[in-house]
Amino acid sequence: MADRAPPAQDELLADLAHPGCPVCRVARRAGDGVLTRLISESTTDPDTRIRLRAAGGVCPEHAARVAELGTRRIDGQPVAILANDLLGRVEKEATAARPWRPVRHAAGCQVCESVAPRVDAYLDLLAGSADDSEVGQAARQPDRGICSAHLRRALRRRRRPVAVRRLTALHRQVAEPLRAELDTYRRAIRDPAQELDERVATSWRRAWEWVHGTSPPR
Ligand SMILES: [Zn+2]
Ligand SMILES: [Zn+2]
Repeated sequence: MADRAPPAQDELLADLAHPGCPVCRVARRAGDGVLTRLISESTTDPDTRIRLRAAGGVCPEHAARVAELGTRRIDGQPVAILANDLLGRVEKEATAARPWRPVRHAAGCQVCESVAPRVDAYLDLLAGSADDSEVGQAARQPDRGICSAHLRRALRRRRRPVAVRRLTALHRQVAEPLRAELDTYRRAIRDPAQELDERVATSWRRAWEWVHGTSPPR
């Protein structure tokens, strides 16, 4: 066995210092880097431009990130060139469409594809870490866990029962209190006299984000 921990473990431990899903954190951080690079390279690297064109851009989640990163890291100029290109391309596809020849689109979002190995490395580490290991203990701190979207992703790959149990427990440690808050919320809205505290009042929003893995990193 290697006596030095792989770099992914140090990175995971740093992400576990924050509340929320650490897999979402690495996906956001790595995705922002890939997205920024892709957008800037799209004007200078023909292969990047061709692939972005073929995919019709990126997925809605990463498209929304372009606007959020816009003022800080992404310059409007390459986005303008790329957007103009994509607007023209779909028009061309529509003009060329024939009833007997459906339009076929190439692969999905390049950012999602690039980030996938990082996401899976985190899930493997979380699945493979015993409760009393460094990662296992850090992952069991309050408000840590894995979101439903990342549990679903992990379950799509074949895993040993012990790994599934660990990952499910990590999901449950956030999902269980959230579900209790949702119950309180649902009871409270039926009774207008009942005061809602801030946590219960926002439970539906946090639950929805936890299901989809879209919680903004804190
Ligand atoms: Zn997640
Ligand atoms: Zn994407």
